[in-house]
Amino acid sequence: MYTYYNLIADVKNLEKMGAKIENIGKTVAGVSIPSIHIGDYSPNQIIIQGAIHAREYITSELIVRQAYHTITRYGSTFKGGIYFVPMINIDGVALCQYGLSAVPVLKRSFLTDVNGGSTNFTLWKANINAVDLNTNFNARWGTGTQNIKYPAPANYIGPYPESEPETRALVELTNRIKATLTISYHAEGQEIYWEFYQVDPEKSRDKKIGEEFAKITNYKLIDGTLGSAGGYKDWCIEKLKMPAYTFEIIPSSVSFPIPSSALIPEWSKNKDIPYKALNLILV
Ligand SMILES: [Zn+2]
Repeated sequence: MYTYYNLIADVKNLEKMGAKIENIGKTVAGVSIPSIHIGDYSPNQIIIQGAIHAREYITSELIVRQAYHTITRYGSTFKGGIYFVPMINIDGVALCQYGLSAVPVLKRSFLTDVNGGSTNFTLWKANINAVDLNTNFNARWGTGTQNIKYPAPANYIGPYPESEPETRALVELTNRIKATLTISYHAEGQEIYWEFYQVDPEKSRDKKIGEEFAKITNYKLIDGTLGSAGGYKDWCIEKLKMPAYTFEIIPSSVSFPIPSSALIPEWSKNKDIPYKALNLILV
């Protein structure tokens, strides 16, 4: 089980190896959200982010391993740069992994109520305000087919767009570095989503890059929005007109909590995705 403590230890190691570490904001509980930058600060900058959904913390482990792989294989300087944000929803991940003892006392009865009285949070996806961060971005907010309007373990859009500090941290980073491509890692499905109402020329550009990713990973490239709204990828595509992708790793047959061993068959498909993604847009 990959935890925030593992992440902090890895961040320190990667810093010693030459990566640049920044805190991009704080969670609801006030925990700093780290990012790991490898490469140069020009020209293009991309973002690889994970664990926006709490129970999908296997994606944090994948992204940290990608950071190690990138710096070991390509060094700490190369043309363009990659921001790795392995764990955006740190509070939600802690709740999922450790239960109520991991969250501030004031939140515990609220979270238990939202969870239907159960203290088992292993299937929890939201942050500790019970907002699903991947529906909280300002992109056709509240129009998703699975959106709900009250606190819940998943799918609650929040009181207004970007109401959550974790959402704002990612928005601010993306704007500040003028990101040119983003990849959001989720689980599960072995699929890649690329579409959110773009029109040409962006539509053909984004599909073409998606086809490259599908070829490398052997994941299925899925056309259409499938009723999505308010997601990070959706916001990147609609508001910033950039290519942005959701990668769903791990076969759907694996049940939660996903064991670390489920990463083994995914690793070779994904280890070079960050560096290849950067170079796909450098050409
Ligand atoms: Zn997800």
